[in-house]
Amino acid sequence: MKSVDDHTPVPHTGFGYDVHRLVPGRPLVLGGVTIAFDKGLEGHSDADVIVHAVCDALLGAAALGDIGKHFPNTDQRYRGISSLVLLAEVGRLVEAAGYALVNIDATLVMERPKILPHAPAMCAAIAGALGVPPGRISLKATTGEGMGFAGRGEGAAAYAVATIVHV
Ligand code: MG
Repeated sequence: MKSVDDHTPVPHTGFGYDVHRLVPGRPLVLGGVTIAFDKGLEGHSDADVIVHAVCDALLGAAALGDIGKHFPNTDQRYRGISSLVLLAEVGRLVEAAGYALVNIDATLVMERPKILPHAPAMCAAIAGALGVPPGRISLKATTGEGMGFAGRGEGAAAYAVATIVHV
């Protein structure tokens, strides 16, 4: 079959997945927004499960490895860091590799709280970290219907796809 040559701008799509445990005594940070809740996500950074999935989707689209390769959780520089800082660095890496963003679509799986009211602020925060228009970012949420770790409220999962194009 025919294959596109190296000068044809073709989309590259990457996929990201992340999961974090919900624990008492931590702020709940999702999509770069701190949400009032009685538990937060546990992790080395702020454990922003949405932003981590977005980082991995972008890195995957550019074949640049994953978030653990670039920001190891053994590195004290990243303890408690806002994941938006990591996302901004991911954006710089992907841009340095010659790519521009087409779009990002992410889905959070979490039983509660309801995050839909916060979705526009999350899209704005993610877009701001990347320096792209908020309309390039889509964020959706669903529950686990009471099933599995998300459904039991033990944690949250996030899935993301990112499409980029070489420019
Ligand atoms: Mg993570």
